[in-house]
Amino acid sequence: MKQYLGIDMGASSFKYGIGNSRDGLLHFGTVRIHEKSLEAVRQNILALLEDVKDFHFEGVGLGTPGTIDRKTGKIFGVNPNLKFFTDMSPAELFPKDFPLPVLYDNDANLMALAESSYEPCRLCFGVTVGSGIGGGIIVDGKIFHGAGGFAAEIGHTIAVLDGIACNCGMQGCLETYASVDGIRRRLQKAQSPFADMDLPTIIAQSKSDAFVKKTVAEGETHLIQALANICNILNPDLIVLGGGAMDLGLYDIDKIREEVFLRISLAHRKELKIELARFGNRAGVMGGIILCERS
Ligand SMILES: [Zn+2]
Repeated sequence: MKQYLGIDMGASSFKYGIGNSRDGLLHFGTVRIHEKSLEAVRQNILALLEDVKDFHFEGVGLGTPGTIDRKTGKIFGVNPNLKFFTDMSPAELFPKDFPLPVLYDNDANLMALAESSYEPCRLCFGVTVGSGIGGGIIVDGKIFHGAGGFAAEIGHTIAVLDGIACNCGMQGCLETYASVDGIRRRLQKAQSPFADMDLPTIIAQSKSDAFVKKTVAEGETHLIQALANICNILNPDLIVLGGGAMDLGLYDIDKIREEVFLRISLAHRKELKIELARFGNRAGVMGGIILCERS
């Protein structure tokens, strides 16, 4: 079976791997972003291509933050976590003489594509919880992009009308309450001593410090509400929650499942499974590979 290079561009590092959906990843690596600039990102691509030069692969599948305009193929609008990376095609990050096809899609779409490939489902909604909150919809094995390419942005659904200002320019978005950056900003505003600590410390404090506990619990409640709304609109049979913060246990998957089920009708509960992402932080890489396989 053919092999491909999958790349998952994050805000702080790129993950990449060589493999296919049958045999999994034969090689996996990470390169950190040392500086938030286009030049630094291009250097990262060169570094990872150098690392995989002894492998044979037939193409590249790249997952990127930001919304991609399906008409132009370019990142459209504000790209909150990589602000310099907009109004260009992600394929332009590669050297001009790069000989293989470079396919790309939104990172959360690719996470959902990977997860839905290993769990029988008709409609999968994937959610990534990390610096921001992303979403992806897979219908019968294909990414659903909406009219222009901007579907599934659960992170920017409104949790609180006229609430906290979001990086996207709107107010009260889910990710201002439920993402890691959102929780951090709320802790900073309240001058919590834990605001600048790493995520494992914040998670540990959410068991003991009253304010951290309340802030994380509110994030979880907003996420549960958004997922229940998604069930009513899309009637998914699989919801998968992934991303770095879910891997570390910021939110409790059993509680989310239980609470969402309490808030939706029997009709929507009937076929629904709510699971943690099985590929963990490698889902985006595997999604890039599957995107190549299905093209
Ligand atoms: Zn927003």
